[in-house]
Amino acid sequence: MKVLEERIRQEGLILSDTVLKVDSFLNHQVDTELALQIGQEFARIFGDRAVTKVLTVEASGIQFAMAAGIALGVPFIYAKKKKAVTLAEEVYSAAVHSFTRQEDYKISISQKYLGPEDKVLIVDDFLATGAALVGLCDIVAESGAELLGVGCVIEKSFQEGRSLLEQRGIPVHSLARIASMSPGEIHFIDQEERTKESAGC
Ligand code: 5GP
Repeated sequence: MKVLEERIRQEGLILSDTVLKVDSFLNHQVDTELALQIGQEFARIFGDRAVTKVLTVEASGIQFAMAAGIALGVPFIYAKKKKAVTLAEEVYSAAVHSFTRQEDYKISISQKYLGPEDKVLIVDDFLATGAALVGLCDIVAESGAELLGVGCVIEKSFQEGRSLLEQRGIPVHSLARIASMSPGEIHFIDQEERTKESAGC
């Protein structure tokens, strides 16, 4: 998604070879117009698959899951990271290791909102090591719902997340794919290369 790549080039802060900060438009302050466009792009990619629920994990996936849910006309659910007292009913849960915080946490969603009748699109802000998304995939598997695919806003393609998900046979679509980065420099996998990749060239 060209407009997204441009914003990353203009406003992204590359803190190291592995960490990109996009707090001015995606991760802290959110450009709402861009978030809606991101949701529409996910709906364009997955819209013919009869999605019934969009699933994400709090907090930074919420605005994109909501935008995708609006564009698809379906609800979105966000997994909670701490089991709140209000989440008293039965839950599906999975353990996740956080890349940015370097700690383990548990994610949970109520069993009331996801079941075998659902077709799920998972959405998140970043695909890095894939730990958060694998946790969400485990929850979908536990619920008996069908997982249609994963949509990520930014993928750091030099980390192992995509291959981890693809090994499980899960289709992954990322709107900006970073081939490599270092402070002051960023390279995207462009559309031409992606087409070659998917054609097996
Ligand atoms: P994972 O390693 O499980 O794929 O990434 C989990 C979460 O860590 C992402 O959803 C995102 O919130 C955060 N994250 C991973 N890499 C980055 C990064 O380079 N920049 C920012 N801002 N967040 C990241």
